[in-house]
Amino acid sequence: MTEPVALPSAEVDVVIIGGGPAGLSAALNLGRARASVIVIDAGRPRNAATLRSHGFLTRDGVPPLELRKLARAELAAYPDVRVLERTVATALIRTADAATGLRFIVALQGRSPGTPPAVAARAVIVATGLRETLPEIPSLRAYYGMSLFSCAACDAWELQDRPLALIGETPDLAARARLIARWTDRLTVFTNGADVVDTVEEAELAASGILVERRGIDDLEGDRSTVRAVRLADGTTIPIDGGFVRPRWHPALDFLSTVDADRDGEGHLVVDGSGRTSVEGLYAAGDAAAPGPQQLIVAAGQGARAAAVLVHDSVGVQTAH
Ligand SMILES: Cc1cc2nc3c(=O)[nH]c(=O)nc-3n(C[C@H](O)[C@H](O)[C@H](O)COP(=O)(O)OP(=O)(O)OC[C@H]3O[C@@H](n4cnc5c(N)ncnc54)[C@H](O)[C@@H]3O)c2cc1C
Repeated sequence: MTEPVALPSAEVDVVIIGGGPAGLSAALNLGRARASVIVIDAGRPRNAATLRSHGFLTRDGVPPLELRKLARAELAAYPDVRVLERTVATALIRTADAATGLRFIVALQGRSPGTPPAVAARAVIVATGLRETLPEIPSLRAYYGMSLFSCAACDAWELQDRPLALIGETPDLAARARLIARWTDRLTVFTNGADVVDTVEEAELAASGILVERRGIDDLEGDRSTVRAVRLADGTTIPIDGGFVRPRWHPALDFLSTVDADRDGEGHLVVDGSGRTSVEGLYAAGDAAAPGPQQLIVAAGQGARAAAVLVHDSVGVQTAH
């Protein structure tokens, strides 16, 4: 049963749920547009497992938490923008108050001092990113973000020309292998016993020098955070020097259960080209919006775009920027 939602003691123009690059970039741009904003952030970024983030212009190689710290420091210049850290949005309720224009109530659970039980808002931006499930291999989590990654654009440069693994159990594995082969000609695809690469794909991969290993995986071997071999269930070990894994991605949208916004087949919020969902006043940006997993700079760009469109919508203006 859904918990009753406390009446809001605070109201703002915009609540942003999620304080990653998408949410913080939206907050910066809304602050500059003189909107009052509360950012709610549980503080569990998708890339928390890694030490360095790549590909963000002017910040290539920045530690993930440093990027957020820099962003929050910039927000401090805007007095109407408030960030509630270690706070979770537990429910989003639609409301309608013609006098104030308030459309949503966001219920909160938080450990930040002074966290209200709920906030009312004229608009909401969902920027909650994704949750990931990795293939069930005992040591995989220890190497993830250190020498095994999920995003080729983010991390393949550092692994180039090495013998690499691609581990996954999803039907897009062959396509991912072709992408990763851009950075190495020593790639083995491990399906961990899943029937996800057909014989035509296997032949195409073989023509590019990519091996497909279909046997189940017992575990990974390595030293500290560097993976050195894949040990198969029959005891065979195949040396590698890093690689990629294909997680399964799940939207982090439990709080949206009472709001009937359109989702795609994977559960990501469907948005138009500007970040609007199918529910008026509700926007989405970053990994939470279809098509799902992206990059930091893309998420930040989507946050900025959603903010601009929200401002335009709030005054009924439909021009380009
Ligand atoms: C291992 C790894 C390495 C990566 N490396 C790179 C890289 O080098 N370069 C790159 O560009 N990209 C990289 N990425 C991808 C990048 O992390 C994501 O694309 C980016 O973080 C998406 O930003 P976001 O703002 O949409 O979501 P996130 O950064 O995930 O932020 C979402 C935030 O919302 C919060 N949240 C979720 N639910 C709630 C709720 N109900 N209430 C309140 N808060 C909530 C979360 O705790 C989190 O803080 C990497 C990803 C992984 C997994």
